[in-house]
Amino acid sequence: MKTALVCGAGGFIGGHLVRRLKREGFWVRGVDLKFHDYAESEADDFVVGDLRDPYFVRQVIDRRFDEVYQLAADMGGAGFIFTGENDADIMHNSATINLNVLDAAYKRAIRRIFYSSSACMYPAYNQEDPDNPNCAEDSAYPAQPDSEYGWEKLFSERLYLTYARCRGMEARVARYHNIFGPEGAWTGGREKAPAALCRKVAAAANPGEIEIWGDGLQTRSFLYVDECVEGTLRLMRSDFAGPVNIGSDEMVSINQLAALIADIAGKRIEVKHIPGPQGVRGRNSDNRLIQSSLGWAPSQPLRTGLERTYAWIERELRSNNAR
Ligand code: NAD
Repeated sequence: MKTALVCGAGGFIGGHLVRRLKREGFWVRGVDLKFHDYAESEADDFVVGDLRDPYFVRQVIDRRFDEVYQLAADMGGAGFIFTGENDADIMHNSATINLNVLDAAYKRAIRRIFYSSSACMYPAYNQEDPDNPNCAEDSAYPAQPDSEYGWEKLFSERLYLTYARCRGMEARVARYHNIFGPEGAWTGGREKAPAALCRKVAAAANPGEIEIWGDGLQTRSFLYVDECVEGTLRLMRSDFAGPVNIGSDEMVSINQLAALIADIAGKRIEVKHIPGPQGVRGRNSDNRLIQSSLGWAPSQPLRTGLERTYAWIERELRSNNAR
């Protein structure tokens, strides 16, 4: 039986990845600081512990897993990574996790390891025009991410690639672009735009009003989590190391995203723009490299994933209110 280790298995994407690996017949060990917030983990072995602790990391990497996925990070949406307050935690915690996990995997003679980087590592100067952002993989340098979160991702990408270059490991590095879907943070401060807007629309009256940070003209693309997992597995099992974008290229403004969610909800929603953290003006996944290297790119329309996500968040909200 093939074995897999998922670091960050108590999180959003890690939870979905564990489920998919179990469907494929893997024996899976999940590791996280906490159990999953919204679902019972399907991992065969779920270990709660801190990947900043090198002793703990050596204990959980106790065999030559066939596949190792490193998704654990101290992260959140704009309200978490752009305020500045969490910068030291983000840099220290995530970098320490990556240093520990990668080195322990190397010492266990694990051959191949996946690392989830982020589109936040792209230079801010290429993302000032909301209609024409440049997020081609080779546009990463000269580096100028707009957040410490992006700098840590860039550092860690390079860390994984050095273990490939100097120590004979095989790294697979993906740059995720705004992943969304059910069973992810939707309240509490770490949620991202799609989940936050679904929650606001679900909580609003009909007709009603919601607040959006900034003028709502900033653009992004959003990838449904099932496609993210599919791209992750394809990359991991390919001969291509990356870094490569895993994202949707269906770019929308935040105002359009809100309008789409209101339409799914069947509500008439007015938008009130208020000051708040926003990040770059424009960002979109450039999918030419993934298409040419893996012969695949995500293709599901944004609306399809949003319908599922909205339905899940509306249910969560209702059951929270009923408590
Ligand atoms: P998430 O926050 O839901 O999952 C990350 C998990 O890591 C959490 O469950 C957290 O408890 C765990 N973790 C944090 N510190 C830890 C520690 N010291 N020891 C053990 N576990 C620890 O985030 P996610 O959305 O599932 O993201 C997964 C990965 O993908 C992250 O590396 C993230 O930076 C990256 N990524 C995500 C997105 C996105 O839109 N969700 C976009 C780009 C990159």
